[in-house]
Amino acid sequence: MPSHLRAAAALAALLCAAPAAASDLEPRLTLAGPGASARTVALTLDACSGATDHRVLDLLIAERIPATVFVTRRWLDGNAAALKLLLAHRDLFEIENHGDAHVPAITDRPTMFGIRTAGALEAVRREVEGGAEAIEAATGSRPRWYRDATARYSRDALTAIRADGYAIAGYSLNADMGTSLMAPMVARRVAAAKNGDVIIAHVNQPGRAAGSGLAEGLRALKASGARFVLLRDAETRTDDGPAIGPVVARSRPPGAAEPASGVTRH
Ligand SMILES: [Zn+2]
Repeated sequence: MPSHLRAAAALAALLCAAPAAASDLEPRLTLAGPGASARTVALTLDACSGATDHRVLDLLIAERIPATVFVTRRWLDGNAAALKLLLAHRDLFEIENHGDAHVPAITDRPTMFGIRTAGALEAVRREVEGGAEAIEAATGSRPRWYRDATARYSRDALTAIRADGYAIAGYSLNADMGTSLMAPMVARRVAAAKNGDVIIAHVNQPGRAAGSGLAEGLRALKASGARFVLLRDAETRTDDGPAIGPVVARSRPPGAAEPASGVTRH
């Protein structure tokens, strides 16, 4: 087996097998009010670092499939042409915060999946703010959703990021397991998305097979009549604590009731 495949297989095994530390949280996010008449999903794509997967991005534009793209400062710095493309289709793409340098928002263990964690709340805040500043500079608007490098958080980090006004972008369907899966598997997982799923996948690994499977699965999902929504337009539900979105918090008229716990309106 080629070494990169061995590495991918090892990563897949790790992602499947590694239990979260008792204190770590991996919030699950779903759409709270998916369409009754059509299967409705939210596609979220991480741009961690590296390059741009045009098998995916070009398909989204051609098929007019909306996606919420989580970018790091690091990815923005190296992908000016792709950013221009995202900004040329603002109706299709929402750009949200994946941090500054792809550092997990975890303070209670030194590494997660081999990635060095923030280790302390101050470093978590720098990571979140660094991503936000880069996005504001690139797009003119502040991000409202945050997803850290591994979609896992220590409780203190989760609380701190929410206190800064972010909604935490969990997911319910892991389409590509960090781009470690082979194309047919990714295609099957995406095509089988359930009504209300928030799908997580990647748009920064053009050299991995997973991206072609993602494109194929999305094509099938669209052809089946599925509806795609952006997180900013969706009512979402998280299984972990209150998730009152910043848009709600800022737009709620004085004296209006708090939204129900666990439900984010965007
Ligand atoms: Zn990432």
